[in-house]
Amino acid sequence: MTQSDPIFRLEGVTRRYGDLTALDGIDFVADDNAYIALLGPSGSGKTSLLRVIAGFETPDAGRIWFQGRDITDLPAHERGIGFVFQNFALFPHLTVFENVAFGLRNGAQTLSKAELTDRVRTSIDMVGLAGLEDRNPEQISGGQKQRVALARSLVMQPKLVLLDEPLGALDANLRERMQIELRSIRERLDVTFLHVTGSETEALAMGDKVAVLDAGRIIQYDTPDTIYDGPVVSDVAKFLNRFNLFDGTFKEGVFSGPFGALPVSNARKNNSDTYAIRYDRTQVFDAHDANLPGPALPVRFLASEYLGSSIIFLFETEGQKTVEVDHHLSLGEPRHLTVGERYTLSWDPEQAIVFGKETAR
Ligand code: ADP
Ligand code: MG
Repeated sequence: MTQSDPIFRLEGVTRRYGDLTALDGIDFVADDNAYIALLGPSGSGKTSLLRVIAGFETPDAGRIWFQGRDITDLPAHERGIGFVFQNFALFPHLTVFENVAFGLRNGAQTLSKAELTDRVRTSIDMVGLAGLEDRNPEQISGGQKQRVALARSLVMQPKLVLLDEPLGALDANLRERMQIELRSIRERLDVTFLHVTGSETEALAMGDKVAVLDAGRIIQYDTPDTIYDGPVVSDVAKFLNRFNLFDGTFKEGVFSGPFGALPVSNARKNNSDTYAIRYDRTQVFDAHDANLPGPALPVRFLASEYLGSSIIFLFETEGQKTVEVDHHLSLGEPRHLTVGERYTLSWDPEQAIVFGKETAR
């Protein structure tokens, strides 16, 4: 590996199952020594992509490069890439220690007993399981099993670890704690994590970079902030689950939607005409308030929900579309709203993102 080789690189990677194209010519250059989140809806090809990189499956077309070397035809066990499965896949009859030691005992390298014990203990310490070495998998919790699965991969000292929805089986509290721990474990090692998730919250919270996968293609790869502030296509905005998206028509610099017709100076090329405004940038006004920062969207108030640091208000438009407003409590007390009453939603049009089949000149 030279200075300029990325940790891994995909070139036109395609994987078909019969008529179905699970991976559709993926080109990707990974950042080195980074936490990369791979976000996509169910069926978008996330697992297929990890399996192809790991070598459990062969692509129908394309090449895979790892540390400057073409590994497309290399068997999985010779790649030196770690894999953490969603269901942990521990050996039930082996202790925690032996589960972690498994790869070292069965690897190409022969280690002395002392070296092996040392490597296994270091990995077990790393994931915070010291003291549980002699337990069997059925004697530890779900979160601890996930740590064993991670330790078993780290003990091989990989430069790349692929994690397939590693927190999917954990309850919400534990998931948040493990998010923080996974990030800090990775930071202490010189290793890249490629972490697959279907949760936009998890992807944005965990990734130094986020790759968004849709129908077998990576449609955006950037920092969480950049993706959040500037989804390149409306599907990314949809997956982020933080934007109100309105269908409409965009023609000659004017977007017409349920809030009327608005001049738009800038549109992003897209396969539909869609207007996007973030939940936390959508504001609530009285039904007949004439003093609005932008367009007027007539709505009826449905319900609210407190979420710790913010409150979510749900409204319904005249066309029966649900629209969300997030009010951060750091901005002060939210106004009182009456269920069933009419209100007007508005926003600063400068903060909207417009996606059009025709781009503005
Ligand atoms: P994700 O992990 O994002 O949910 P997958 O990579 O598992 O998506 O699947 C992508 C697509 O490929 C899906 O439509 C899935 O049904 C299909 N697929 C995955 N594995 C196989 C397989 N072994 N045989 C046939 N179709 C498959
Ligand atoms: Mg999957």
